[in-house]
Amino acid sequence: MTDPTDTRDTGPRVGTPLWAFLAGVTVIGFTALVVAMLRLDAAGLVELARTPLFWALSVLVILGELRPVMVSSAASVGGTYPSTMFTFAVLLHFGLPVAVLMQAVAVAMNGVVTRKAWHRVMFNIAQSTLALTAAAVVLGVFGIAPSPAVPWVPDGSDLPAIALAGVAYFVTRAALVCGAVALHERRSITRVFKVTVVPQSLVYVGLLGLAPLVVVAMEHSPGMVPLFVAPLAAVYFTATLSMRRDHQALHDELTGLPNRKMLIVSTEEALAEARQDERVGLFLLDLDRFKEVNDTMGHPVGDRLLQMVAHRLTHSVRPGDVVARLGGDEFAVLLPSIRDAHAAREVAARLRAALTEPVRLEGMTFDVDGSVGIALYPDHAPDFELLLQRADVAMYLAKEGRSGVELYQPDKDRNSPERLNLLGDLRRAIDSRELRLHFQPKVSLGTGAVQGVEALLRWRHPVHGMIPPSEFVPLAEQSYLMRPLTAYVIEAALEQAARWWHTGLQVQISVNISARDLLDSALPEQLEVGLAASGLPPGAIQLEVTERILTGDQAYTQETIKALAALGVPLALDDFGTGYSSLIRLQRLAVSEVKIDASFVRRIAESEDDYRIVRSIVDLVRSLGLRSVAEGVESDEVAMRLDEMGCDMGQGWLFGRPMPAADATVWLREHTGAGPGIEYGYQPEVSRSA
Ligand code: C2E
Ligand code: MG
Ligand code: MG
Repeated sequence: MTDPTDTRDTGPRVGTPLWAFLAGVTVIGFTALVVAMLRLDAAGLVELARTPLFWALSVLVILGELRPVMVSSAASVGGTYPSTMFTFAVLLHFGLPVAVLMQAVAVAMNGVVTRKAWHRVMFNIAQSTLALTAAAVVLGVFGIAPSPAVPWVPDGSDLPAIALAGVAYFVTRAALVCGAVALHERRSITRVFKVTVVPQSLVYVGLLGLAPLVVVAMEHSPGMVPLFVAPLAAVYFTATLSMRRDHQALHDELTGLPNRKMLIVSTEEALAEARQDERVGLFLLDLDRFKEVNDTMGHPVGDRLLQMVAHRLTHSVRPGDVVARLGGDEFAVLLPSIRDAHAAREVAARLRAALTEPVRLEGMTFDVDGSVGIALYPDHAPDFELLLQRADVAMYLAKEGRSGVELYQPDKDRNSPERLNLLGDLRRAIDSRELRLHFQPKVSLGTGAVQGVEALLRWRHPVHGMIPPSEFVPLAEQSYLMRPLTAYVIEAALEQAARWWHTGLQVQISVNISARDLLDSALPEQLEVGLAASGLPPGAIQLEVTERILTGDQAYTQETIKALAALGVPLALDDFGTGYSSLIRLQRLAVSEVKIDASFVRRIAESEDDYRIVRSIVDLVRSLGLRSVAEGVESDEVAMRLDEMGCDMGQGWLFGRPMPAADATVWLREHTGAGPGIEYGYQPEVSRSA
């Protein structure tokens, strides 16, 4: 993928510390190279060039240069090259000048083949020359100075000298590379050392440790030398595989960006390193019209768009800043050090500008837009979790106000410290599965037959005990936690449905979702994948949305509702009567069931007004061809009157309370196929004739 905003391969700006460092190392390294060349025994080299061994080694070094074991994708320099094994062997056997020459030619050829920027190639030649020189100096101290004319073959007693030379080689290389990375990403060198050198050192032990054996083979049977490719390949593939695994666990597959886990690690690192006079910035970004592209053009195009966006974002920030994908079309950006709020806003505006640049895909042009929320450490929050929460509050302000970029403002945050603590606990509860689903039956008022169950969340907090959903669901609704919460509920409901359906209990489970969930295009996708994975028909699940979604901005939710309808998952309108929906809106919304709010239902036995209200709702629902469900049915009398007025179904304590899965299973076994009305005090047949 090419993008005109790609600036990664341009050299550092003249005069910057990174420039000075790279230039300094390059000059010193090339000086060392020239000095080594002056000491090159030309006649010896010509002699050497006549042997097949020399050419075999050259080929091995060049091949070994082509594919480094990359420790960090972020490091633009560095990586461990398999060629090390052979260049180090050449150093031991034929001396520094030959080793340096071979290495320099190989690096240059690699640079041409992989089209690296020339400043990088120069730096790599310089740093490997210096590393070999350091090793040669150590060998010199031990009186070891080989040359093509007088090759050296070590024996067991030379191992300490070789080990020290190996250490000198490794330390020089690591220091130079880490120095460049640290300056490039503006991180502390010790940190960079820790994350890159520790995994690299093992690979180096494997590569350098084999070098003396290569020398022995070179001396006694040069024809055997290519056999070293086998252990080399083993080291290479094992190292690459384990690095790739580490990488996968911490990165998003689609975009290659760091994932949430990695973002947490990086943020915590940044918070620990933060300097007094600087801030750490955490941005949350959400694309505004991604869903439309995804739905109209299909997932492959949606995926490409996300990759494009990821690419643009990474190229709109400085090296060392972290762009992560949290899921769906939600991205986060971490700025480990930023001067102040003003500077943070500037970066955010730049990120947004990069997004609003039209995207060309499949010969079409798409306008994408995004909202950015900013939270700063230490001004707004002391840790990752809170920073993210506050960036989320800011992002919603940016969305609501259509301003594009907002900084967190405490006075616009409706979360009190207690609520925030609870949010933190809820996050952990979702991860640790402290949340459980209970199931409440829904029965036909006419026949008493079970029509389905509603999944209701229960949270047993380790300290505060049972917390009702009416307390924590609205809290989650105002935060980024709604997405994982609903994802969790759907997953658990699908699991339970699969268990029931596969044991012959074909009962529909209704899941409550919030209006915010309908802004999320990931919802239909999760359902589609989940249903397919558990082998369930779409009708095994129903979604309940509250009437409030009718009053919100429907343009955004309509897409998701359409996707759900296409999937075949039915929709119910919950708590009907509490909002002020108009008839026409109800008709336009593709629901198949309307649940009348318990506050009206409960009073129909006492109040004529409430009776009339419920009756007219039932009539209205029927005239639209939909089913009506009365919520909160607690008494026989209420059930009777509902049946009388033609309400289809009832749900409430009279029939059954919300129960844990095991109890619900027993209840369902007892009540499916049972005759009408026997188990509940109320008798439908009697009510008919009454
Ligand atoms: P809802 O969807 O209207 O659920 C019905 C509520 O009425 C449940 O309260 C249920 O326990 C209660 N109920 C059922 N029968 C009776 C009865 O005969 N008498 C009385 N007094 N109450 C009855 P619950 O479980 O406390 O849930 C409250 C609300 O929290 C739910 O209202 C729903 O809006 C929300 N909620 C629950 N679970 C979830 C969930 O997984 N996701 C989302 N987004 N919201 C949920
Ligand atoms: Mg409900
Ligand atoms: Mg309800």
